[in-house]
Amino acid sequence: MMRLLVQTGLCLVVLWFGLLGAAPVTDDQGGAAIELAHAGLASEVASAAGSSADGSAEHQEEGAGSPILADQLVNYSAEEAKTAAAKPTVYLTFDDGPSEKTKEVLAILKREGVKGTFFMLGKEVKQYPDIARQVVKEGHAIGNHTYDHVYKELYSSFSAFAKQVMDTDDEIYKVTGIRTNLLRAPGGTFGNFDQGYYDALAKAGYIVNDWNVDSGDSARVGVPAQETINTVKGSRLSSKVVVLMHDSSIHGESVKALPEVIDFFKSKGYQFAVLTDQVKPIQFRLSPSMKWKRPKVTAAETLTLVQYTARTRTTLPQQNTQSLIIHAGGEDIPFAPQDYRMLSGTIDVPLRQLALGLHGIIRLDMANGVVEAMVNNQSASWTASEVGGSGMSLPSRIMVPLRETLQRFHFGISRITVTEGKREIWVEPSSV
Ligand SMILES: [Zn+2]
Repeated sequence: MMRLLVQTGLCLVVLWFGLLGAAPVTDDQGGAAIELAHAGLASEVASAAGSSADGSAEHQEEGAGSPILADQLVNYSAEEAKTAAAKPTVYLTFDDGPSEKTKEVLAILKREGVKGTFFMLGKEVKQYPDIARQVVKEGHAIGNHTYDHVYKELYSSFSAFAKQVMDTDDEIYKVTGIRTNLLRAPGGTFGNFDQGYYDALAKAGYIVNDWNVDSGDSARVGVPAQETINTVKGSRLSSKVVVLMHDSSIHGESVKALPEVIDFFKSKGYQFAVLTDQVKPIQFRLSPSMKWKRPKVTAAETLTLVQYTARTRTTLPQQNTQSLIIHAGGEDIPFAPQDYRMLSGTIDVPLRQLALGLHGIIRLDMANGVVEAMVNNQSASWTASEVGGSGMSLPSRIMVPLRETLQRFHFGISRITVTEGKREIWVEPSSV
């Protein structure tokens, strides 16, 4: 529809934004967003077939047990289902890196014009800082996969798990300048997480992501590429697929499998995207029996983690003291400190300012409650619920996550600088 309008020269900039754009971002909006994320977590504890892995072998990886069937997972909201039905989305995820193999994964992703999400181990980030930075620079998402992946330690007490999460969070920040609240539990949550783990992590703002397609590349050491390809091709696919793969040093076969895995999803009409804190996570259901005996998560353990994220995240808009300037080619798009917000490391900006600043157009499809924008010949749309409204009552101001939105418009971030007075981000069309 957008494309057609543009091609026929009908520059349809609907001026409704002019009416809606004046209200300031309030604390309430920030608060609502946080609550929304937590509510999402609570309601998204999905039913999934459990892994039968007993977790005793330290290198038994995620999903090494029985396969998890997509149709046993999350019930999506109606809005999400509608969006997903229009264009199925696959999220490729790579765990246990970074390593030398990550560079090969990055080269393939670049060649294929695809972005992925890397759940990194703190100790590997420390060992391969340049590769971690390269992942970020090339527009992929980063998540926390704990520090050393040792199950026995992580699942014997929550304080040990939380310490590894915080250490990894700090290491990722030190190396890449990014705070991520995406988290993946080593081995997946099934049988490893009790409700206390879920609750404490949610309170601290972490979004726990399991998967719904296990490539099987870590079922044992050295799974041949062809087996991984066959496993993916034989999986039950939903309109939202989160694929588990690995990029540690022992996963050369996974790298070999990757091009065909990507081809497979392309041939099925999937779009590729990165996980963000705006994407509802796939989570396994709570296992009726734990693989581990351990004490319950205490209020004090929870508080330690909550205080950590409160200290390391800027969550309130008025805490922005810097203005934000996006440099795009010869254009500067300025945002005053109160015009954008940082939430758990994600920068949200007003869609209108961003789209118009990038010489795009925007319009509202009132009938369907959808906002559309076309920038750089790429169209993207958001449902009212995705951008904070519900049904026909639209938000006074539509905020979108910057990195993800730029990605949808085929722009990448090439450089970020932060000084006392301002935060500057250079963007350029992605070389796809
Ligand atoms: Zn792992």
